[in-house]
This record gives sequence, structure tokens and C-alpha cells, in this order.
Amino acid sequence: MTSNPRAELREIVGEVRAYLEAQRELGVEQVDVQWPESPVASPPLTLREVREELGECTRCKLHPHRTQIVFGVGDPKARLVFVGEAPGADEDAQGEPFVGRAGQLLTKIILAMGMQREDVYICNIIKCRPPGNRTPESEEILACSPFLLKQLQAIRPQFICALGGPATQTLLRTKEPISRLRGKFYDFQGIPLLPTYHPAFLLRNPYEKKTVWEDMKLLLREMGLAAAHRSDDRGSP
Ligand code: URA
Repeated sequence: MTSNPRAELREIVGEVRAYLEAQRELGVEQVDVQWPESPVASPPLTLREVREELGECTRCKLHPHRTQIVFGVGDPKARLVFVGEAPGADEDAQGEPFVGRAGQLLTKIILAMGMQREDVYICNIIKCRPPGNRTPESEEILACSPFLLKQLQAIRPQFICALGGPATQTLLRTKEPISRLRGKFYDFQGIPLLPTYHPAFLLRNPYEKKTVWEDMKLLLREMGLAAAHRSDDRGSP
């Protein structure tokens, strides 16, 4: 035991890593993130405090590869939070989530919903770009997701939209494929959470845009809002 909290934290992360490596050797391929069952007893931090606590993070092996941490952007009191997977190259360069091609599509979706990017909050399950944009690994999610939880506790949104498999599976602690999960509401610590396909998936599979638009119309109905832009039969935006 040490009196240096950072060293203590590093020690704990090292122990968790060793445990996960041992599990992998035993053939375990994936671990569930255990969210606390109820929000932490102490009052939630503000977003600024969560950012300060994250600091110049070195909690996982992604930190040497990043240009900068991509924390999150938008209204700290947003009714709706979009949670994506991880920053890509553009996000890593600009320090803002969803600013590349997939991000531009997400922005179009938000506008079609009758909102502006500034009206919602946008973040990811992990805050540093994985090399080559690979899927985040369990250890990275384990190290980073407490900060996502604290962001959500700071914002206390009325709705969460999880974008794609990794975000949805992390938040709902499931391995079910996104194709099975999307389009229905689930409970995330008392907050209705709607999974849908990730915008990057839509760039590769544009015929699924209409599916996401159906999901967004469902979300808008639950939020008591009407879409600003009507989708045509081929699916829009
Ligand atoms: N994809 C994500 O999941 N998040 C981003 O910020 C950008 C692309």
C-alpha cells in the first residue's frame, strides 16, 4: 500500500490487467463491465470535475498512441446523450467526437431529428483512438468506462442512444449482436436506452439508413418530439 493515490491506482490497474491476462490464458475471450447497481452515494461530479479526474490518462495501453483525449461535446444538461465506440483519426486530431465522415452522418441524423449538435451530448465508451481504428479491447473498456458512467451521472439525461454493438454491449452488459438489440428501449440505471446501428456501419450499408431513421422516430416519439424532417421511403437522412 502506498500514500500516493496515482501509484495506488496504477497498482490496481496492473492487478486487473494481470487477472485479465490470466483469464485470457484460461480461454475467456470477453468480460462484462460491472456497472455499480445504483449511482455512487456521493453527489455526482460535474462534467468538468470528471474531465479533471481523467487528467492526462495513462490507465490503459492506448495513451501513447493518442494525439489527445476525446472526452465529449455538447450540452452538459442534454436530454439526450449519444454514446459511440471510440475516436477515429479525425476525432483524435480535433479532440471532438464524431467529426469525421461517420460524425457528419450523425450530425445529419441529429438535424433531421429537429435538433442541433449543441442540444445533445456526444461521447464514446473509450476516450482515446485505438490504433488503426480497431475495436476497443476489454481492458481498455474496463479502464475507461467508469468515466463514461460519471459523465452520464453528471448529465443525468432523460434518454441515451447507443450507437453500434460495442457501445450497446458495454452499457447493457450483453454480448447480443446489435442487429438483435436495436430498435427497442432498455433500462440503463433508470434511463431509457435505445440502441441503433453506428453511423460508420451506415456508410458501409446505406440501405440500413431507413432502419436507423425508424429507430430515431421511435426515440423522438418517446421524447415527445416530432421529427423536423420526414424520411422518404428509401430512408433518410
Ligand atoms: N466513431 C465513434 O464511435 N466515435 C467517434 O467519435 C467517431 C467515430
